[in-house]
Amino acid sequence: MVNQKTQGSAKRILVTGGAGFLGSHLCDALLARGDEVLCIDNFVTGSRKNIYHILDNPNFELLRHDVTFPLYVEVDEIYNLACPASPVHYQADPVQTIKTSVVGAINMLGLAKRLHIPILQASTSEVYGDPQIHPQEEGYWGHVNPIGLRSCYDEGKRTAETLFMDYHRQHHLDVKIIRIFNTYGPRMSTHDGRVVSNFIVQALQGKPITIFGDGTQTRSFCFYSDLIAGFLSMMASPQSFTGPCNIGNPIEFTMIELAQQVLDLTGSQSKLIHMPLPQDDPRQRRPDIALAQNRLKWDPVISLREGLKETIAYFRALLG
Ligand code: NAD
Ligand code: UDP
Ligand code: UDP
Repeated sequence: MVNQKTQGSAKRILVTGGAGFLGSHLCDALLARGDEVLCIDNFVTGSRKNIYHILDNPNFELLRHDVTFPLYVEVDEIYNLACPASPVHYQADPVQTIKTSVVGAINMLGLAKRLHIPILQASTSEVYGDPQIHPQEEGYWGHVNPIGLRSCYDEGKRTAETLFMDYHRQHHLDVKIIRIFNTYGPRMSTHDGRVVSNFIVQALQGKPITIFGDGTQTRSFCFYSDLIAGFLSMMASPQSFTGPCNIGNPIEFTMIELAQQVLDLTGSQSKLIHMPLPQDDPRQRRPDIALAQNRLKWDPVISLREGLKETIAYFRALLG
């Protein structure tokens, strides 16, 4: 990464977790508009395959680095995405997960403070836990188990939000927090473990579709391209707007409905099988996106059907 500020309006942007599903798409979007990108990742869930196509781009630089360690670089903006997002992966090493969210946030906030630069946090709908208010709006404080299997992720992300707001109030840092609701699309790993990739891979391989519990629990699925537009709009919003701001698609489905759409679009004969519901699995989830609509003029445009078609085509090509 060059040490002088990039000429013109192009910026040098740090993306942590940049080799992951969302991070790699964000790197693409930033490069496409002419920015320089420093991608850091420890590859715990991310992959070089996600960024293979940009490794030779002169505006792209990759650094293997774990955000729980300090990082001294010179950049103009930070997007902090480093953290495994799938329950299977974040529960595999829960202590590292919470360190990534908390120590990682402290390090990236320290970096932003030294450089006096804006920093955006990829937070999550999990801060609402198993919500008792529906749909979820940003003023809702959530219903979160502090000592359960999901807590390393939920409480880590909640603490990161606290740190972001404290650095904002105490050190006048320009912070932005988005709360991402279930987002899917190409570049999710076949072993990611989240529901959309699991169902598609199972359907394409003719294996049983694993419905956890009775399948009446709901989620609202956002396609990655809508989400990336939300990231960019949030970073471009006035300094006075810190969020938290929900970013997600407000159309809600049960897991049974999702499975049926996947079967329909793949033409698969896979059967549905039921498996135990994981501990503290939220019963329902749907974002209230009025704040994003008002402050960012942001709205998702890709329907679940359209997004699933593109994601299925990706996995079909990948699985051969
Ligand atoms: P992902 O697992 O594909 O990406 C996470 C990336 O962070 C991976 O490349 C991983 O290797 C990297 N990483 C993890 N720990 C790290 C560490 N200590 N140091 C450096 N890199 C590290 O998941 P994703 O879906 O792309 O999620 C990206 C971010 O968005 C995460 O912070 C996640 O919590 C948040 N988010 C995603 C969703 C979603 O539905 N996709 C929903 C809510 C929040
Ligand atoms: N930090 C970093 N890069 C920097 C500046 C700071 O990684 O360019 C880390 C460093 O580990 C530090 C943390 O961010 O401990 C928090 O920094 P801050 O300035 O808020 O606190 P302090 O240095 O007083 O601990
Ligand atoms: N789920 C499922 N089958 C799977 C994977 C997940 O039925 O193979 C369910 C899971 O129990 C949850 C929903 O799908 O109710 C979304 O799970 P995911 O892990 O994608 O994300 P979460 O929103 O729970 O973090």
